[in-house]
Amino acid sequence: MQYKVFEPDVEVNGSTVCSVITGLGYFTNLSRRYFSRVNIGTVVNKELRIDMDGWYPQHAWLEAFKNIAEQIGDRVIYRIGLTVPENAQFPPWVVDVDTAIKAIDIAYHLNHRKNGAPLFDVNNGTMIEGIGHYGYERDPARDRDGKNRIVSVSHNPYPCAFDLGLITAMAHKFQSNAVVKHDDTKECRSRGAETCTYIITW
Ligand SMILES: [Zn+2]
Repeated sequence: MQYKVFEPDVEVNGSTVCSVITGLGYFTNLSRRYFSRVNIGTVVNKELRIDMDGWYPQHAWLEAFKNIAEQIGDRVIYRIGLTVPENAQFPPWVVDVDTAIKAIDIAYHLNHRKNGAPLFDVNNGTMIEGIGHYGYERDPARDRDGKNRIVSVSHNPYPCAFDLGLITAMAHKFQSNAVVKHDDTKECRSRGAETCTYIITW
């Protein structure tokens, strides 16, 4: 379900919060109002300042995100999703659409922590549960129509439109003609379901 945490004690890092606030662009009044209301960031000279090295409660972050999303609508949320990977750093093994889509779940876990430890350990590749996932699966249907096809199931508290933007941006990093569509034949978090399914073809 959108904006509903899986576990209460999870925190999100400042750089993730910042990338969304940057994506909000000129909606600075909304950012300031809703983030400071949940004690995320401090307002200095009417400007919301986020500690890039800080960690913030995921439930507070999602509450602010929800309030802002209700004001600005899905189109803007989609555009924010598109901008999020722009300034992100990715490991050297991210070299094509497949690895880019796989990397989303790892980056997602790296940017959240529980009991002071990030949910992905880069040293041994261990992932800790607590925030859901961004899925990756190659669909063999490509053999029928000659197209590459990845199915990505989002089972996480972020809004549907945000993930569509995020996955689209990651696919376009390596394949500018990739088409990313929400699978409308499946359930959708914007209608209260647990997951959304996205199909990437090129
Ligand atoms: Zn959806």
